[in-house]
Amino acid sequence: MDKAIVLGAGLSGIGASKLLIKNNVEVLLFDNNPKLSLDKIKKKIYGKAKLKIKLGSIDDKELDDIKLCVISPGFPKDNSVYQKILSKKIPVISEIELAYLYTKGEICAITGSNGKTTTVELTAEMLKSKYGDKAHKVGNIGIPYSDSVIGKDESDKYVIECSSFQLEDIVNFRPHVAAILNIVPDHLDRYPKYTDYINAKLNIAINMTKDDILILNYEDQILRELVLQKELFKCKTVFFSSRRTLTEGFYMVDNAIFFKDQTKTIKLLNIDEIKLIGNHNYENVMAAMAVSYYMGVSLVDVVDVAKSFMGLEHRIEFVREKNGVKYYNDSKATNPDATIKAIDAIKGKIILIAGGRDKGIDYGDLIIAMKEKVRYTILYGEAKKKIAYKAKDLNYNNIIYADSLEEAVDMAHNYSNVGDTVLLSPACSSFDMYSGYEERGRAFKEKVMSLK
Ligand code: ADP
Repeated sequence: MDKAIVLGAGLSGIGASKLLIKNNVEVLLFDNNPKLSLDKIKKKIYGKAKLKIKLGSIDDKELDDIKLCVISPGFPKDNSVYQKILSKKIPVISEIELAYLYTKGEICAITGSNGKTTTVELTAEMLKSKYGDKAHKVGNIGIPYSDSVIGKDESDKYVIECSSFQLEDIVNFRPHVAAILNIVPDHLDRYPKYTDYINAKLNIAINMTKDDILILNYEDQILRELVLQKELFKCKTVFFSSRRTLTEGFYMVDNAIFFKDQTKTIKLLNIDEIKLIGNHNYENVMAAMAVSYYMGVSLVDVVDVAKSFMGLEHRIEFVREKNGVKYYNDSKATNPDATIKAIDAIKGKIILIAGGRDKGIDYGDLIIAMKEKVRYTILYGEAKKKIAYKAKDLNYNNIIYADSLEEAVDMAHNYSNVGDTVLLSPACSSFDMYSGYEERGRAFKEKVMSLK
């Protein structure tokens, strides 16, 4: 292959272009946004002689000698250039497939609707405890996998965070160990059918063989039932559970985490030794332990790392205590399930701040979770009315509207009592008002810190 087109000039597309050029492939890098700066993109890529960049549109004849298309995860599939590529029968692969083709070391991969980044960070720390600098975290976490394989060898180990978008166009991608944390509705604005979203996630294990190990959440009905249809995966499956004793795997009972295989049961730790809170986080810890263990890290080392892990910014992150009220930033909760998990994780009564851009997901289960513990819900952003109507339907009436996140914080401050928790956990994406969940989380923290 001597010429490829890369779709999307974000982190993944730039990583893919660099990897291709490094391997003597000519690259036509295309982005549908005509306003991007050519110079800024060029600066990020070496080997410019082999690089041509096109923004906005492309002449048909440019596609004539293209042998491969690498698509970035966020690239819209209804785009006319992508459609032309399909009609010309040019093979399309995702960026992780491309990186996989050039990977020499061993890989493990983690997907799921929620908890990916937390689990990947934790797994990376565990792998580092054994493999040091040879362990790399890559993928959806913000470090392109393609970029990371350049100059590496057989001794490198990778943990790859895979979103459903990244798993859409894989062909041979085959991790030695993989985990699917959970599957709940998300991104229904992009997937017309929920089954398409589920199938994209399942792609993670599609090429795994009997020598590979797939870690699954026993408490996730979709995942548990899948294993009953055995012919779906050829690999060995190992479960984790936060609710029951398993005959094999990692599980939590009586506030402690255990490992069990055919010969032994070992108590690994008490959950009060972990700094993360909430059942969902104990699930993430067990998944990370399982992935790392099957990647060769000892149980003693995985336990040490689990105990010292502090958690990540924007994920049920403690901000401050003010007048006996605790403030938590969970801006990364961009779907209702993540918000339900945050409500469950927090002890005592909650003033919830939610809203933002709707992703087409039903809020019924969230409203039911709110009924028990949430004294007031302050809604702002594009989705506020949709959430409020659902609340009304389900007889939850403690709803207040705010015009901005800042106003919502002021209101929460006024409505809270000693012992309450103010929780930003929006259940929606941030793009109606912010560039991303990070900016939204920082705005929340700034406002909270400024409360007098
Ligand atoms: P992802 O990378 O899949 O978006 P993160 O680790 O960034 O996952 O967490 C995103 C949101 O989901 C946060 O609000 C976090 O508190 C919540 N969360 C984390 N782990 C889980 C889990 N296992 N199940 C449900 N929600 C989770």
